[in-house]
Amino acid sequence: MKLVLLGPPGAGKGTHAKILCERFNLTHLAAGDIFRRNIRENTELGRKAKDTIEKGHLVPDDLVNEMMFREIENADRKNGFVLDGYPRTIGQAEALDAFCARTDYNLDVVLNFDTSENVIIDRLSGRRVNPTTGRVYHVRNMPPKVDGICDETGEKLVTRKDDQPETIKKRLEVYEKETQPLIDFYKKKGLLQDVPGDYDVPELQAHLNQIFERLNLAV
Ligand code: AMP
Repeated sequence: MKLVLLGPPGAGKGTHAKILCERFNLTHLAAGDIFRRNIRENTELGRKAKDTIEKGHLVPDDLVNEMMFREIENADRKNGFVLDGYPRTIGQAEALDAFCARTDYNLDVVLNFDTSENVIIDRLSGRRVNPTTGRVYHVRNMPPKVDGICDETGEKLVTRKDDQPETIKKRLEVYEKETQPLIDFYKKKGLLQDVPGDYDVPELQAHLNQIFERLNLAV
């Protein structure tokens, strides 16, 4: 199965990508996570992307495409992958199309997480992460056992720099301008399925099951 998860920041893409990857044994390719790992490891790519990410802007297409093609080629070809937060511009979507044609990968479905602004802001402002492993919590919806402390490593949880209110606003503007046009792009290709991003996790998973069954994608 080869899926793309499309939607604004805070729509629930990461949470659902992780669940789907476990269930169907897929590789989770989250562009933002890969960038953050590169920043933590202080790689050349991480150094190039850091400032842009912290300001809530998009990293240039060429850098993202090159990074994601490498990741897709390394993923298990048999079981497939979930692209989470990629593509995010028309340029990236066109480059991904050309890559898929070249390498004989076909996307099965693009899930568009349709999520309202108040839910997005609540999810992003309550999000806390482990700065080393990237594990994600939410102060109310997915709290750690001890307030502010990671269940797995005991480290202090932090708020992502780009989850500060001003940067959230910027990221939502960038989403509307750069990423929303992808909804039409994939609709025209017959790949788009809308999903109700405001739903809680179990309800939304049940909704995804129905889509997979309808498309004969359940494995
Ligand atoms: P995310 O974790 O998906 O919210 O991504 C965090 C940040 O990484 C974004 O705000 C961008 O700065 C950068 N980023 C992630 N994915 C992409 C992409 N497909 N294109 C450009 N920049 C990206």
